Amino acid sequence: MQAKESHNTICSYCGVGCGITVTKDAKGTLSVKGNEAYPVNKGMLCSKGKNLNYVAQDTSDRILHPQMRWSRNHPLQQITWETAFKRAAAVFKSIIAKHGSDSVGFYVSGQCLTEEYYLANKLTKGFIGTNNIDTNSRLCMSSAVVGYKKMVGEDAVPIAYEDIELADCFLIAGANPAWCHPILFRRLEKHKEENPNVKIIVVDPRKTQTCALADLHLQILPGTDVILFNAMARWLIEKRKINTAFIKKYTSNFEACKQKAFELSLNEAAKKCDIPVNDIKKAAKLIANAKGFITMWTMGLNQSVIGVDKNVSLLNLSLLTGHIGKPGSGPFSLTGQPNAMGGREVGGMASLLAAHRDLGNEKHRQEVQEFWGGKPIKKEPGLTATEMFNALENGSLKAIWVICTNPVVSMPNAHKVERALKKANFVVVQDISHNSETTKYADLLLPAAGWLEKEGTMTNSERRISYLPQVIDPPGEALPDAEILWRFGQEMGYPGFDYANASEVYDEYCLMTKGTNIDISGLSYERLKTEGSFQWPVPHKTHKGTSRLFDDHEYYTANQKAHFNAPRNLFNQSEQTNAEYPLILNTGRVRDQWHTRTKTGKVKRLLTHIPTPYLEMNKVDAYLLGLKEDDIAVVKSRRGSVQVKVKINFDIREKVVFLPMHWGKILNSDFSRANNLTNDLVDPISKEPDFKYCAVQVEKYEKP
Ligand code: SF4
Repeated sequence: MQAKESHNTICSYCGVGCGITVTKDAKGTLSVKGNEAYPVNKGMLCSKGKNLNYVAQDTSDRILHPQMRWSRNHPLQQITWETAFKRAAAVFKSIIAKHGSDSVGFYVSGQCLTEEYYLANKLTKGFIGTNNIDTNSRLCMSSAVVGYKKMVGEDAVPIAYEDIELADCFLIAGANPAWCHPILFRRLEKHKEENPNVKIIVVDPRKTQTCALADLHLQILPGTDVILFNAMARWLIEKRKINTAFIKKYTSNFEACKQKAFELSLNEAAKKCDIPVNDIKKAAKLIANAKGFITMWTMGLNQSVIGVDKNVSLLNLSLLTGHIGKPGSGPFSLTGQPNAMGGREVGGMASLLAAHRDLGNEKHRQEVQEFWGGKPIKKEPGLTATEMFNALENGSLKAIWVICTNPVVSMPNAHKVERALKKANFVVVQDISHNSETTKYADLLLPAAGWLEKEGTMTNSERRISYLPQVIDPPGEALPDAEILWRFGQEMGYPGFDYANASEVYDEYCLMTKGTNIDISGLSYERLKTEGSFQWPVPHKTHKGTSRLFDDHEYYTANQKAHFNAPRNLFNQSEQTNAEYPLILNTGRVRDQWHTRTKTGKVKRLLTHIPTPYLEMNKVDAYLLGLKEDDIAVVKSRRGSVQVKVKINFDIREKVVFLPMHWGKILNSDFSRANNLTNDLVDPISKEPDFKYCAVQVEKYEKP
């Protein structure tokens, strides 16, 4: 019998990236607790993190063996790994030979480890010869990525969690960290408790749990964020509360931002946002008086057809007030997934290259090609998430390889995604669990190792890179995702995929970052294991990491100045409500569920908070529709319908309804999937879908 052993790792859910100590007792039973020495959470864990041991130990839902079907009419049959790799390589080679390299694509996940992301990119961009690799991070952070690139020249979050305790004013917009980033919220809560002078402004069409901490809640009409941020900018400029010295010395394009901010008067802006003008003035005054000002935002801004405009108009506020590159100040996008940041670092999107290199830059493409020794890299971006499923539906994309994500539930306009997967010539699904609704579309189903069953690294929202050790063996024949990818590369006959372990993949990636702004050539598994986590850049072997960027105010833009950007659109460009579809649907998360519930759905304890999906609506709307609490409502959009219980309150604006995004088709009824309703309209630059705004009708369900 083995002795009790403990390992430090990282939570596999949200981008806060809490440290967890896993203990395996003599019988192999796992328990988890917060890692007290870890700087992010200092021993705290939220309900999801606290129950991760149950998820890791319950293998009843796990995919245990590779499986394949000979044709769509045949059931999946167990095969060996050897047959699986041969089949995958044969089909990919044949499709590429017949239709070209752009006829195949990979759709991956912000839950993949950095090494896995890196290899999937190397395979597609470097050797298959297509940029058709995108990720579910496209659905959550791509508007923020574009915003950062436009402002500071790169996808670089300037600050660290330790800045929270140094700030005295927070603007939280389109985010509900109390439920979605709970440990970060607890740090904020404690900071405010200890410092009553700390002011918090929340911008959200719903009165969420986060509003309990707010000094001011701006309950704007959905889609009016740009108007609001521009109005704040106008007030700051008019009242001479901007940091003129900072603007002159360290920024460019101020006039364009000013011009846009002055397009609407404060009264006009307040009317459009449907909030009192004095509340806009109050918020701007709080920002003006701040010594340390932090903006925090997430999906409410990003998941929008004008997501980039929302981002740049918010980022302008930090530049106007000079609140960047100093302690307790800066913009801070809250990453949804545990390794969305790591994925972006290795170029895990159709529009990116490894180590923040630029796909449109010939020199960068050449550097990457030479480093990998592969094919010339195409300069045109590949298909993004929604484009990939559109291309499957129209037949131009023939094969898709889905890794660690469940697009049948998580993508907008879900019926279209199902049609696309049915139409595809070949679908590979690489995942841990049969709970993923996407597995039923697989022609080849590959069992992957899960959390604690493989080693690798992840980067959290504050650029902190941590090592995750293997603690237990994967069940059945499941393999680490990185190994599946490098063995597929070998089977395709590509050079440079003969890795012995994940550490070799990581060393290769670290070397590739040398000389870039995210240089981590000073890192290795050994350092991460012995010295703990590091915030990038870490450019040499004795470097201790970088908690805050731009202390020197030398930004990554061509002129080294931070750049103001005028939003292109003041007004929302989402689909319109009308007499038939008069309500606005907003979708989002609940506290104890994660994504499509493939993991959290297994934990009974997590179901006690909110056990079933629901439609949140205002009492006035419910009264007008004859709906009472717990009645079943039918919600219809131009794309589909759902049936859910109604939850009635005054916390949500009139004419706006909210539906959680977690529930799919198999685990509950056929009718609870929020993405039956949502629109696959995307921001034209970031290509992030408009999950937070579509037109719906609601009526009481009557038994046929
Ligand atoms: Fe995990 Fe996020 Fe909860 Fe921390 S806050 S325990 S990272 S889910």
